[in-house]
Amino acid sequence: MRVEFYKHNVGPEEIASVVETLNSTFLTTGPRTRQFESQLQGYLGVRHAIGVNSWTNGAFIALKAMGVQPGDEVITSPLTFIASANVVLHCGAKPVFVDVDPETGIIDHSRIEDAITDRTKAILPIHLYGQMADMKAISEIAAEHGLQVLEDSAHCIEGSRGGHRAGSLSTAAAFSFYATKNITSGEGGAVVTNDDELAERLTKFRLHGMSAGAADRYHSKYKHWDMELLGYKANMSDIQAALLVSQLARIDDTLSRKEQICRRYEDAFEESHYVQATRSLPDSVHARHIFTIRVHPAIRDEMLDALQDAEIGVAVNFRAVHLLDYYRQELGYTRGMFPEAETFGDSTITIPMYPKLTDEEIDYVIRTVLAESERLDHPWPSR
Ligand SMILES: *Cc1c(COP(=O)(O)O)cnc(C)c1O
Repeated sequence: MRVEFYKHNVGPEEIASVVETLNSTFLTTGPRTRQFESQLQGYLGVRHAIGVNSWTNGAFIALKAMGVQPGDEVITSPLTFIASANVVLHCGAKPVFVDVDPETGIIDHSRIEDAITDRTKAILPIHLYGQMADMKAISEIAAEHGLQVLEDSAHCIEGSRGGHRAGSLSTAAAFSFYATKNITSGEGGAVVTNDDELAERLTKFRLHGMSAGAADRYHSKYKHWDMELLGYKANMSDIQAALLVSQLARIDDTLSRKEQICRRYEDAFEESHYVQATRSLPDSVHARHIFTIRVHPAIRDEMLDALQDAEIGVAVNFRAVHLLDYYRQELGYTRGMFPEAETFGDSTITIPMYPKLTDEEIDYVIRTVLAESERLDHPWPSR
């Protein structure tokens, strides 16, 4: 049996919607983008959503719009995709890492205050795997120190913690619609905020700082436009939006199938001495972006090989960012600085989890993971 690491969920509805858009006037940012933006606003209960062409560009213009500049510091977690820290570097600022909770891999908010200096401008927490960081605690720290907060919500559209959803307790939250994310347009993203002024700046920043987008210029009589600030090229296209509208409409059904799969995995690994499912928080709705297990660091890479030899697709989300070459060389980070994130990054394996996964495939993954971890025989966690 062969189990793909990931299969997308784009089907007839999305294909029909894209065809309809291709037969319309607008391919770039227009009515479809606007429809998706208002749908996302409604889904999350926020005032503004701005469609962009990736999380990376969306988060970058959000930090720019918040005024992050050279010399500033932004606090984030090292257990994430490189984009989260790279956007800080693109602003000329320094990513300052704070270690993670050893069981969930989420930023340990109790360590944030120690990392704040007079150069700190913002906090950029990651909602890892679909579980939210403690936004209530983080927003209180931010308010006390006059900091802004940008949520990395690339893994988490559906989630909540203590009843709070992404975008509700921060300056802004950025989402990704990259190929493997919870809803996808191949590439794409959005930034949401409750701040009217920030939303206006983001709308300009996403398209060269122009005073009017293409749709506005087209729909009324030609008017001269102006350039008010130095913006970027980050706007969402109507083709991307056409793919997203129906996926967002059924996102909670998709989540309940993923929840079933995750529960089966969690039950299957509960008794194992060798494999541990990453912990789910009790007061949270988990957006179930990816499913990760932990094994002893001494056998992690052998497990990756063994699972791939058994034709099971796997990944590692993530090896700690501060240990990657560029971050070591340019920023002077070394092993030992963030031990929990390092251990997490050395022990984690992502296994297949998506709505199209069949019951037989799930059983095969469970059997193989248990058998191979027993064969390699390194108990985890080392009790
Ligand atoms: C995928 C991902 C991103 C980047 O998203 P893009 O849309 O590809 O730019 C950022 N942060 C995290 C945690 C991600 O997983």
